[in-house]
Amino acid sequence: MKLAVLTSGGDSAGMNAVVRAVVKAGILRGWETWIVREGYEGLVRGNTDPPTTSTLDDPVADPSARQRVRGGKATNFIANLRFGDGDLLRDGTGDHCSGQTLKGRYIVRAGWDDVRGWAAEGGTLIGTARSKTFRTPEGRLAAAHNLIKEGIDALVVCGGDGSLTGADIFRSEWPSHISTLQADGKISDEQVEKHGHLRIVGLVGSIDNDMSMTDLTIGAPTALHRICEAIDNINSTAASHSRAFVLEVMGRHCGWLALLAGVSAGADFIFIPERPPQSDPWEDEMCEAIYRHREVGKRKTLVIVAEGAHDNNLKPIRAEYVKEVLTDRLGLDTRVTTLGHTQRGGRPCAFDRILPTLQGMEAVKALLEATPDTPSYMIGVRENKITRVPLMEAVAMTRAVADAIAARDFGKAMSLRDPEFQQSLEGFITTSTLYKEGLLSEDKRMRVAIMHIGAPAGGMNAATRAAVRYCIKQGHTPLAVHNGFRGLLDDAIHELSWLGVDGWMSRGGSELGTNRTLPDIDLGAVASRFQEHNIHGLMLIGGFEAFNALLILENGRKYYPAFHIPMVHLPATISNNVPMTEFSLGSDTSLNALVDACDAIKQSASASRNRVFVVETQGGKCGYIATMGALATGASFVYTPERGIDLDLLRADVKFLKIRYGLDAKGKSEGRLVLRNECSSTVYTTDVLMKMFKEEGRDLFDSRSASLGHILQGGVPSPMDRARAARLSLRCMAFLEEHHAALQAQPPKVRQAPSESAAVITIQGTSLRWVPVQEMVKHADMKNRRGKEMWWAYVKDLVEALSGRSELV
Ligand code: ATP
Repeated sequence: MKLAVLTSGGDSAGMNAVVRAVVKAGILRGWETWIVREGYEGLVRGNTDPPTTSTLDDPVADPSARQRVRGGKATNFIANLRFGDGDLLRDGTGDHCSGQTLKGRYIVRAGWDDVRGWAAEGGTLIGTARSKTFRTPEGRLAAAHNLIKEGIDALVVCGGDGSLTGADIFRSEWPSHISTLQADGKISDEQVEKHGHLRIVGLVGSIDNDMSMTDLTIGAPTALHRICEAIDNINSTAASHSRAFVLEVMGRHCGWLALLAGVSAGADFIFIPERPPQSDPWEDEMCEAIYRHREVGKRKTLVIVAEGAHDNNLKPIRAEYVKEVLTDRLGLDTRVTTLGHTQRGGRPCAFDRILPTLQGMEAVKALLEATPDTPSYMIGVRENKITRVPLMEAVAMTRAVADAIAARDFGKAMSLRDPEFQQSLEGFITTSTLYKEGLLSEDKRMRVAIMHIGAPAGGMNAATRAAVRYCIKQGHTPLAVHNGFRGLLDDAIHELSWLGVDGWMSRGGSELGTNRTLPDIDLGAVASRFQEHNIHGLMLIGGFEAFNALLILENGRKYYPAFHIPMVHLPATISNNVPMTEFSLGSDTSLNALVDACDAIKQSASASRNRVFVVETQGGKCGYIATMGALATGASFVYTPERGIDLDLLRADVKFLKIRYGLDAKGKSEGRLVLRNECSSTVYTTDVLMKMFKEEGRDLFDSRSASLGHILQGGVPSPMDRARAARLSLRCMAFLEEHHAALQAQPPKVRQAPSESAAVITIQGTSLRWVPVQEMVKHADMKNRRGKEMWWAYVKDLVEALSGRSELV
């Protein structure tokens, strides 16, 4: 089979990772893989010129490398190695690359090495366009003819809802195009026979995250990164001059970017299309909210306006007008910043490398399984699982949101968004509103202690900020316990204020101070501090230690009445080793720090042409960061503590590297990465591996090592970690409140907290689930400090498949 991939509509980060994954997955399945340049326009134009022969007569550097490779699969791999010289399309001219001349050719063959390193590139290297011609039946007929001429019968389209609609129309019209082309004598009977059915699959590339039936679209996380980076830069100048900033972000029908940026950056007010301000006139509502913030001493103001924002009567709300209102009514020195296309640009964040890779591979699988009776599928992601949904259903639901907004049915528009969107909005309102007094009656109010435990992780401070704001809204007293249990014993406890935590969303590290001390250092003294400070609820933010601490406290309930209070653990660790939760706070920040560092290392490795970099990652006995990092950076293979390292494995790895370097084009050898978790082996250390590769590589390749160490804790937390921190933290507070109320209903002298009131909040898909700490123990490998089951275990094989290792050895 021959398959082609195209990108269409507005570009988004992650499109190149899609192309790379589709090409590689296609070759792995034994298909010929093609690229369509310039979206549907390229399909309509097709190839007017014949292919030029490659200037490279034998591109394989070491012909004996071919001979060392045996087996049918590997033969196919080599046959599909490259059709450019590894630079296909990359020089940006689009029509003259050294390997083949692309002028007059829009549908071109692409091989394994032609897409190397693409996951790290922003935009789309194969070009995109908005094609008017493809909207016409004649244009689509020409497109069908061009595909058939090249013998292609399977198509992957990556674009927004327009592009996917076009894809579905194209497929539904296919039989009629075939008949017309046959009647016109443009295709042979044989071609009619062979191409009776077009297989088509859609992937959503859109920075707005505006497609229904998928949790995230490709490019949206990176756009959010760009927005948050801009805001973090604006914040310092805003605070210096006590200014207000009105920031306009993209999103015509979808407020996801504005909302998530508002949550992640701790904005004062946001405008999104799905939910206009509730009061009329909205100017009063906004000014009152911001006036209150200023009244308590806030020096900076941030208002975020989605491009498609409007009031209840659909009158557009423009950033310039918001500025006028803030200037005139509140006398604020206000500036407008429109981020525009900076949101689209730049290198993809870790998630926009991982998600498109997984989705691209799934798209190829869906093409393989497609029959004339199956609908065209859109590949999405739901509950952290890659999904297939009928493409037109998703498009129809997406349109329904726009229709509901147009009909001013904002309740319906909100209900059509996923539950996470609604929770984020509620969270934003809770954390940005300054209430005059607590909402709960005195008897329901609590004194809540918040403590960080273990190593710092991105999002710890953001979670604390959200908890503090929630407490103040309800009338609870939020208490910071500094320096963990050691600090508690030293009475390092103080009340946190609404303003005091204002800038904490974007702060890395731990503002409260954190260490690994557990409560069993002196359980009795810990209980007496709880009693002295009259603590009604406890939130622990940290990794495996925090889980351990909660377990010790829950067990301590047998002896100390002070522990008969609700207690929660919010997992925060870069290692992502807390059992039963798919993601802990800090793991996304860490992956992004890893990707940034590895991009730089890979550049250096590639500049030296033939260098294998062995990169050591943190992660303790859990290989999550190393494995997902390997997928995101396109590493050749990864060493994890779960698998360990032995001589058989090393022999195979060296063999792979030798064959692979032997196959590299002459003068075009690649720098390659190998990731090694710090605890993968006590004998085969990073240094040993590096020396071994160096020795074995001889003239073919050289080796160096780098240890990322604490760099992986990251500087500024990623937007994903910040938003997640706020969402989880608010749920933790609600949990404490609920269990506190239940305990209050018991007679004080015999108050017994049930064991489920000491629980860990876990992310399982898009659902947040409470797991009692005693239940959690059953799923924990306490010796190795990780879960017994790892949802990401399959990714290691994927890494090796995508580097070609599984084909060549
Ligand atoms: P974005 O979200 O960035 O706007 P999009 O895919 O929605 O991306 P559009 O401009 O709507 O962007 O569509 C991209 C291309 O898809 C169009 O230029 C056109 O070639 C094709 N297309 C869109 N809608 C249709 C349609 N109804 N019929 C045929 N082709 C279409």
